[in-house]
Amino acid sequence: MLRRSIASKLVLLLLGATLLTSLVLTWVSTRSIEAFLQRKVDQEFPSILSSTSERLELWYSQRKLDVETFARSETIVAGVPATAASDAERSEVHAYLSYVLDRFPQYVAMLLLDAEGRQLARVGREVDIPSEMAARLARVSTIALGPIVRLGGRRVQIMSAGVVDRRDRALGSLHAVMPASVLDPLLTSDRLGPSGQIFVVGSDGRYLTPARGRAPGQPYLPELPPGVAAPVVAYQNDAGERVLAASLPLGRFGWTLVVEESRADVFKPAIVAVWQILGINLVAVALFGGLAFWIAQSIVRPIAALASAARRIADGEPEVVIDPPDNETEIGVLVRAFNRMTVRLKRQRVELRESRAKIEDANTRLRGQNEELQRVNEVLEQLSITDGLTRLHNHRFFQEQLAREIARADRAGGSLTLVLIDIDNFKQLNDRYGHAVGDAVLCEVAKVMTRIVREADVLARYGGEEFALIPGQTDLEGAVGLAEKIRVAIAQSVVAIDDCGRRSTASVTVSIGVAEYEGDSRGLFNAADRALYRAKESGKDCVVVEGVDS
Ligand code: GH3
Ligand code: MG
Ligand code: MG
Repeated sequence: MLRRSIASKLVLLLLGATLLTSLVLTWVSTRSIEAFLQRKVDQEFPSILSSTSERLELWYSQRKLDVETFARSETIVAGVPATAASDAERSEVHAYLSYVLDRFPQYVAMLLLDAEGRQLARVGREVDIPSEMAARLARVSTIALGPIVRLGGRRVQIMSAGVVDRRDRALGSLHAVMPASVLDPLLTSDRLGPSGQIFVVGSDGRYLTPARGRAPGQPYLPELPPGVAAPVVAYQNDAGERVLAASLPLGRFGWTLVVEESRADVFKPAIVAVWQILGINLVAVALFGGLAFWIAQSIVRPIAALASAARRIADGEPEVVIDPPDNETEIGVLVRAFNRMTVRLKRQRVELRESRAKIEDANTRLRGQNEELQRVNEVLEQLSITDGLTRLHNHRFFQEQLAREIARADRAGGSLTLVLIDIDNFKQLNDRYGHAVGDAVLCEVAKVMTRIVREADVLARYGGEEFALIPGQTDLEGAVGLAEKIRVAIAQSVVAIDDCGRRSTASVTVSIGVAEYEGDSRGLFNAADRALYRAKESGKDCVVVEGVDS
């Protein structure tokens, strides 16, 4: 996708630039060639017209000289007037005129008229001259070229010369008839193209000589007005052809000479040049297009490889290496740098993975240590609130729990009672059996009490041989019942002792004081203590409720 888009853009850019340049060049060159051709025609046409005009003048002079010479010949002069001429003279006239026709093929007939217009001699092709025309011809006294006329189906032109005697008296006239086609060889030019032609328009505005697609006698479309010299103009002629034309009046004849050439023919070299330039340009465009495509591909292929490799790296592929191009271009440098980068990236990934594993190890170790610490803390916490000998809660914990229970009772109401338990005559026991036995008794008493109390009850060793109990959610009556149950159980329990190496047993009793909380936080303990004191006073092994004996 990447390759196609960049390559095609580059190719399009180059093709566009080349094509635009070549089109502009083609247009400019075409305009120059057209201008050049136009200039050429502008100079050529007047020059052709002027040389044609000179040829016609020369032709006219020669014909004039011819006919004047014939008219002055002794044979002709002697042959006119007819009345005076003998038969021999007449046949001489005939022979002379026949000789002239043989020698001068441009004349097709010769006609000798007397001063009245009567025909004295006629040789050559049958030329039927109407009488009014003969009268007009007879009036020629010197020399004259007649107009092109149609006689007997033929277009002819007559050069007439007066026949005079030695004293210049008009005797008659000699008329040399020429086909109008004698002008045709004069109306050509090798400087014109195949469609170029020269023709003559008469003073009456009609074609005198044929033009392509137009017959003599046909009216001439007045784009170039007869009798006026016109520079080169472009128009559509009456044969429907687009032409360039120029004209030149021929004063002597009253004609207008027109040169005309197809516009397409005149500018054909420009069109040929356009196609040639276009062809060359198209070949150049194709060549440069191919070259651009090749260059674009060689630039874009490594870039596409880079893009694909970058995508693969982004997708997590670990090892991506691109074949660098052989040359040391910028792309080659880029590819090599990319390869170095991927190698470094791979190394860093490995290092990262290793350090991550190390961190995870350390984390696991830390977690283990943390858990261990937590366990130790919990043990410490437990130890901090536990009595080391009896494993019951200690004095500190009891104080905290009592304060909390008082706060709870203040807040939520309900019963709160406190039970204080003291071992009777413990000092004696200690003294008799030793401190170790005392400790064992303390432990046994604690064990018995632990069996009796519930989970929710708080039982603590309050002092040396004194214990405190906060029964959970228990009213005074329940507390007294519980105290009594404890007292009885301890009294019934027997502790195995070592009495100076003898195995013996000991039994102990406890005195218990019970009090109920009545809103005085300090008073609760004192009341329970007072009750205990009273229990001692009352003979021990009994339960006393503050204010009420049991
Ligand atoms: P009463 O019946 O009035 O309570 O008298 P008693 O002897 O029990 O009370 P007294 O306060 O006179 O003596 C308590 C004795 O308890 C004193 C002390 O040596 C002993 N004692 C305190 N703590 C411990 C202990 O942890 N272990 C042992 N073995 N004896 C202890
Ligand atoms: Mg005591
Ligand atoms: Mg005691």
